[in-house]
Amino acid sequence: MNYKDYIRVIPDFPVAGISFKDITTLLQNGEMYKKAIDDIKAMVSHLQIDVIAGPEARGFVVGAPLAYALGVGFAPIRKSGKLPYETIEVGYDLEYGKDKLAMHTDAIKKGQNVLIADDLLATGGTISTSVNLVNQLGGNVVGAAFMIELEALKGRDKLPGVEVFSLMSYE
Ligand code: AMP
Repeated sequence: MNYKDYIRVIPDFPVAGISFKDITTLLQNGEMYKKAIDDIKAMVSHLQIDVIAGPEARGFVVGAPLAYALGVGFAPIRKSGKLPYETIEVGYDLEYGKDKLAMHTDAIKKGQNVLIADDLLATGGTISTSVNLVNQLGGNVVGAAFMIELEALKGRDKLPGVEVFSLMSYE
């Protein structure tokens, strides 16, 4: 069993030159989806985790079942304007243009240990922005967990001091 056999790679999506790693083919398979979450849970079992935080939308697909499996809470990180209560926001650069991510001001309590989860680590922009949000709320980021890591993009370098876990990596 190889996780990569369940990932559909789409060349030139959404723009020319990007090799898109589609996790929907893994999610379709209940046994593999469960195994992926169980394996991530095992990788982070040495950490003291109070809350999982995940950026929309695929961070929910990884983070929420992981939170359920660990018996901890889940805090959504969303694009600006989506969360209904008081928020903090942090801007970040995209390949083309800029965007903002937001969290509710009460999503993390001061001193809580937070694991950030997403489907894929590419340049690290999304996750370093997520770390920034959690830190601003007074949380301690104890790790970041992914199904996939694109090693060549060196996203880890944007996450100094954060332990990074991934089930599979691509060059
Ligand atoms: P980044 O902020 O560059 O680390 O990008 C991470 C986010 O963009 C993740 O939430 C992914 O869902 C998505 N993403 C970036 N590159 C890819 C790719 N090659 N295949 C699939 N998703 C990607």
